[in-house]
Parts: sequence; C-alpha cells; structure tokens
Amino acid sequence: MTSVTDVLRQSVVVFSKNYLPITRINIRRAIVLLVTGKAEPLDLATEVGVQVRSPNVVLLVPPHIRLTCNGNERLWKVPPVNRREVLRRDHHTCQYCGSTKHLTLDHVIPRSKGGKHSWDNVVTACERCNSKKGDRTPQEANMPLRNQPKAPMHPTIAFAENFWRTQNDPQQEENYAETHLYGK
Ligand SMILES: [Zn+2]
Repeated sequence: MTSVTDVLRQSVVVFSKNYLPITRINIRRAIVLLVTGKAEPLDLATEVGVQVRSPNVVLLVPPHIRLTCNGNERLWKVPPVNRREVLRRDHHTCQYCGSTKHLTLDHVIPRSKGGKHSWDNVVTACERCNSKKGDRTPQEANMPLRNQPKAPMHPTIAFAENFWRTQNDPQQEENYAETHLYGK
C-alpha cells in the first residue's frame, strides 16, 4: 500500500482535446480537473491508475487525462534572442566544448562578417571557447558546433515530441520534465 504522500507526489500527463500530450501536472491538479469535469480519463495503455481515498470517496486517477474543452492553447511567440533565452535553449552548456561555466553568447558567423543576431546564429559559448574562436567562423577556427542552432520550439510541441520518444523509458521522461519544464 502506497502512502498518501507517495500518491500525491505522482504526476499525470495531460492531453489536449485533440489528443496531443501537452504537459505533466501533479495529481492534485489532475483531481481538480477530473472532479470539475474539465478533463476525463484517457485510456492510452494498459496501465492502472492511482487510487486516492478520502473518507467518502475513492477516486481512481489515471496516468493520462484529456481536457474536455479547448482554449488551453495560449498564444506563444518565439522568444527574443537574449542571454537568458539562448542559455536556456542550449541547456546552459557551451556549444563548442560542453562546459557549463563562465558562459557567454557567441555569434557563429561573427557580426564583423555579416552574421546576424538571430536564433540560428547565436549560441552559448564559454569564455575560453569564445576568445579562442575570436573573429572566425567555426570552420576557420576548426571548432565544430555540437548542435545546429535554431529557434526554440513551442513548449507544447517540445513536450509532445519528447513524450512519444521516451514512452518506453519513464525515467528519461521524468528527467526531461524536471530539467525543461520545472527547472531553471
Ligand atoms: Zn567552451
């Protein structure tokens, strides 16, 4: 028998009305959505839900729920290219050496060579890599990028992509949620 605290620590994946996995919420919020009729259980797999007991009610909370109404998709714009957003996109990691210390922003194609201040030309770089690269392109400096820089995805799409990719590995998904959705 799991304790109440253990149960309340568990989480539930929320799907939109159109069956897109959109986020993970704690079981308290899931119960509120179910009880108020804003969500319904979604039978995605053969998993059995979590039983929550109060003196009068036994509620079976499923691992996946689906919203019954639209309107939860808020407008979202690509964030501005600034230090905070670029570091967040690059998971606070130098895109040349992988260091997580003394981070700066680097223009992949230097501004002096016509490089733009745009999502596909700005990356996180540690001070060391930034000064080593200097006024050169990655090719000229022989410093390949670890990832091709691009604008961040809509958080819902990022969540959905990762959700399906990690379906067979709940631990990995849990880690992802902690780092990308609730962390930093
Ligand atoms: Zn570096």
